[in-house]
Amino acid sequence: MNLSQAEDDSRRERNRRRVLIAWLFHETHTFLPQTTNWDAFDVHRGPELFSLAGDASPMGGMLEFAAEHDWLVLPTIAAVAAPSGMVDDDVYDRFIDEFDQFAKGHLAEGVDGVFLVLHGALVCESHQDVEGDFLRHLRSLPGAASVPVYGVFDLHAHLTDAMIDHSDCLVAYRENPHSDARESSIRAAGLLHHAMATGNRPRQFALRPSIVWPPTGVGSADEPMRSLLRMARELETKHPNFLAINVVPGFAFGDTYETGLGFSISTVGSDAEAIEALQRLSELAISSAEDGCRQDADVDKILYEFSEFQVSNCDNSSVNLGGFDHAGPWVIAEPSDNIGGGAAGDATGLLRALLRHNVSNAAVCLYDPQAVSWLQSHRVDEMVTLSIGGKSTTLDPGPLEVTGTLIRLCGGLFELEDKQSHLASAVGDHFDMGSCAIIEVSGVTILLTSNPTPPMDLGQWRSVGLRPEGFSVIGVKAAVSHRRAYEPIAKKMVSVDTPGPCRSNLLTLPYRNLRRPVYPFDSIDSLKQTTPSTRTEKAESVHD
Ligand SMILES: [Zn+2]
Repeated sequence: MNLSQAEDDSRRERNRRRVLIAWLFHETHTFLPQTTNWDAFDVHRGPELFSLAGDASPMGGMLEFAAEHDWLVLPTIAAVAAPSGMVDDDVYDRFIDEFDQFAKGHLAEGVDGVFLVLHGALVCESHQDVEGDFLRHLRSLPGAASVPVYGVFDLHAHLTDAMIDHSDCLVAYRENPHSDARESSIRAAGLLHHAMATGNRPRQFALRPSIVWPPTGVGSADEPMRSLLRMARELETKHPNFLAINVVPGFAFGDTYETGLGFSISTVGSDAEAIEALQRLSELAISSAEDGCRQDADVDKILYEFSEFQVSNCDNSSVNLGGFDHAGPWVIAEPSDNIGGGAAGDATGLLRALLRHNVSNAAVCLYDPQAVSWLQSHRVDEMVTLSIGGKSTTLDPGPLEVTGTLIRLCGGLFELEDKQSHLASAVGDHFDMGSCAIIEVSGVTILLTSNPTPPMDLGQWRSVGLRPEGFSVIGVKAAVSHRRAYEPIAKKMVSVDTPGPCRSNLLTLPYRNLRRPVYPFDSIDSLKQTTPSTRTEKAESVHD
């Protein structure tokens, strides 16, 4: 290497942006009886984070952007777990300890920016707002007080004052199901890159209109989210000062003071411009609050409709049930057992109904590692009698005794068919259902898994030799996140009300921390009469 080349290399090294990164990700269902410990988290430390480059996760997206823009990435820790119950304090303590071990050295040497991948709905025993506390902690570290802190987060977040106060620009996903997690991360990374190049520092403002919607009411293709997202995009176009407007419908199954709908804006413009935009979004949300309080249909009524549909189909007559104009299964979701919302996926409500209505050629997937384990000592084609499901929650009627045929025993690791799916946004390219068993009981094919498997990718069925298009009914345990995978093959998509921890009727849940008044626990009129919970950094004027 000659001298000038060495000088070039050294100049290039000096000019590279030094960006500290971390990933903390968990959606905490605080009403579940089980807690979540450190073992539930998939942890990558230091340079191990680089192995995530190129995958479908938001971290993969950010790392790709960083490589393209020659950032010098300073990795700390990634701790990611599937949605589940209250997180042990020990998890957050360990995360902070390990983060500090990596971060303090990098910060002492100087960093140009921080990029975080967060969920936004992590709750542990001592902190209702873990992400806000983490950001506060980060800011308190030597060398971090004035560093630009950017990041991406899930729209099922509790948008808190501390998150807004201790960051410069957080960007939420816009799609639910989350087909845009990676893309949102790249958008946020682009904003950080611009900030590091120009030295411009945005300010963040947030507004929470005191509305809590169940997960079934916040699909981005449905009202009221569709109109709110459209307004956010229009406001961004109209106001070039706005770097990002977030519509954050929240996560109703996390009982915190700040749970519910929120909006935030990161802007380089005036306070008044941002506040007016937030108020317009808030007014639209209040006027459409009832639309988001989706309730699910009676399961017996839906299965009666299905039997009518089958009869009329045999007659070759056409009935319009508001479904899709092609053949395919009825996809019946039970949001009460929404795995993506933290439920175990072993509730028996829909399965009981399918058997009660003698529905043939149906399929359901049930999480039951004990049943899978018990079946290992049996032969394919053998008749078996066993109790399945109903073990994780007292809200379910309990394990269901069934007699049927063992069809197959197999492993459950599969590659996602859809690398942009909601599932990919959380786990990357592969998912492991654990050991699986398939049994058939009175015309219902039951895929038993050893890991809870959210129904967000059809590879779940095809990888174990089942063709989802061929069933007449598929039962799925989800609120909204299944739609992207199942709509292309479904004749009809419908949600039914069954027992379980994630029911859409929020009035049945024992909230203790939620602020009041808040819709639907208080009337919409009471919201209109109350100043919304507002937070604007460096803009106390909105607290009127
Ligand atoms: Zn989410």
